Amino acid sequence: MSDPTGDAKLELKQASKEVKESENVAEKFSAMTVSKNSEMNMGELSTVFSAVPTHKPVKKQIQFVEDKQEFSRFPTKTGRRSLSRSISQSSTDSYSSAASYTDSSDDETSPRDKTQINSKGSSDFCVKNIKQAEFGRREIEIAEQDMSALISLRKRAQSEKPLAGAKIVGCTHITAQTAVLIETLVALGAQCRWTACNIYSTQNEVAAALSETGVAVFAWKGESEDDFWWCIDRCVNTEGWQPNMILDDGGDLTHWMYKKYPNVFKKIRGIVEESVTGVHRLYQLSKAGKLCVPAMNVNDSVTKQKFDNLYCCRESILDGLKRTTDVMFGGKQVVVCGYGEVGKGCCAALKALGAIVYITEIDPICALQACMDGFRVVKLNEVIRQVDVIITCTGNKNVVTRDQLDRMKNGSIVCNMGHSNTEIDVASLRTPELTWERVRSQVDHVIWPDGKRVILLAEGRLLNLSCSTVPTFVLSITATTQALALIELYNAPEGRYKQDVYLLPKKMDEYVASLHLATFDAHLTELTDEQAKYLGLNKNGPFKPNYYR
Ligand code: NAD
Repeated sequence: MSDPTGDAKLELKQASKEVKESENVAEKFSAMTVSKNSEMNMGELSTVFSAVPTHKPVKKQIQFVEDKQEFSRFPTKTGRRSLSRSISQSSTDSYSSAASYTDSSDDETSPRDKTQINSKGSSDFCVKNIKQAEFGRREIEIAEQDMSALISLRKRAQSEKPLAGAKIVGCTHITAQTAVLIETLVALGAQCRWTACNIYSTQNEVAAALSETGVAVFAWKGESEDDFWWCIDRCVNTEGWQPNMILDDGGDLTHWMYKKYPNVFKKIRGIVEESVTGVHRLYQLSKAGKLCVPAMNVNDSVTKQKFDNLYCCRESILDGLKRTTDVMFGGKQVVVCGYGEVGKGCCAALKALGAIVYITEIDPICALQACMDGFRVVKLNEVIRQVDVIITCTGNKNVVTRDQLDRMKNGSIVCNMGHSNTEIDVASLRTPELTWERVRSQVDHVIWPDGKRVILLAEGRLLNLSCSTVPTFVLSITATTQALALIELYNAPEGRYKQDVYLLPKKMDEYVASLHLATFDAHLTELTDEQAKYLGLNKNGPFKPNYYR
């Protein structure tokens, strides 16, 4: 695969090994140089990051299940089929975009009751069926084609092995795209053990392919709650192997280790967390003075928020709606609740297909943006009787209430694009007078006594991640950011990162973006010396302040 950065390879020279906490980001990076013809030295990557501790609370208001409830539960042999809701919210947000197209197995035996061995004789994994490895390999190869920047990072750094000695435990969606990330980490020298952050999201054949190559994967699609924690535990707790890095999505693994293995947790060199939920939990720990490990908040990097949230949703919202309902959008009235990154992406796609889009917002700035983009900003109650589709994207709770669902017209569609299934009050629909009819996978008709039907998608969980695929290229951007964050935390000199939550500096975001530009044959304009001086910028970036979003 060609190197996507072409002749614009960055050499990030280390200005000083001594990065002081008080140094401001611009000062530190002004000493970096970029040379057109030089390779990036991965060992020098650590200078790219700034030690910018922040106690800034995450902007989004997410409701969490009580930690106590989640982490006081340990896996038991009994009741493993239990599907009670004490499992964390994020872990139950379905992600069957990763749906196993190749898994037609009717085998109902729990993977925990099977003994499986890979071709190398190892049984240190627990997946649905190791024999699916070959199918999984094909899925991974397809994903690699659209993750060329990550592959390029893998190629250029694998001789240096910047993760040699790293023992990473990961808890993410186990999909073909994640497999490309995991195999990159392995190529860079890491040993990995992996588990799923969501009970529905595992691509069984991909889990098998990873296990076949020696990554210890404990995950399968359709785990019970008990299985979920058992898998996390098996991932962390193994004889003769102690993790020193965590890559988490949602914070379940982090909290499991924090609660159950405090001594191992204390020795962790760094945590990389990608989700709003997990980041929020890290800030809570930090605030309480209980975070004893440095952590990177990848969620709030520009290359995550402005890409994953916006473009991923713009590209997948229609897919999710069409696969489930065959709805035509031209002339349909749609209300989108929340005009943040996700809402903006959804609205752009809906508008392009000729839908009439209304927005609800609580924030005057986002509301004004919606107005300027040509959307009507309304209260939900003003349009509830007329709209054909409601889409929630707020990260909030009870945005659509039972009272509002009662007033929707026959045949209207309700769905959610936010992280948790709290936005639509689905629980209020589980009352005796309403009948639920499953019409397709992830599609329920909720029928009122007068015969009115409301079409509820994915039981109020993330629509795109439950009912469609998500674009690989966007995930490559997030995965590259995660890989670099792990390299940085692992290689950072003692003392650079304290027991706190850090944001990736703009320079790093810019580097991740530059890696992906070559896919589009995009040619960046270089500042002249005069222009750089005029703007007060280093010619090689960062080009924007750290707070720029
Ligand atoms: P954001 O903070 O940029 O936007 C959320 C918006 O909702 C804000 O503008 C906020 O003012 C508004 N809001 C909050 N409560 C509201 C209410 N009651 N009524 C109307 N508006 C309200 O966040 P974002 O990046 O757009 O993410 C939104 C959610 O989507 C989060 O839960 C996030 O985790 C999730 N997410 C989903 C995907 C996906 O693929 N489906 C991808 C990324 C993020």
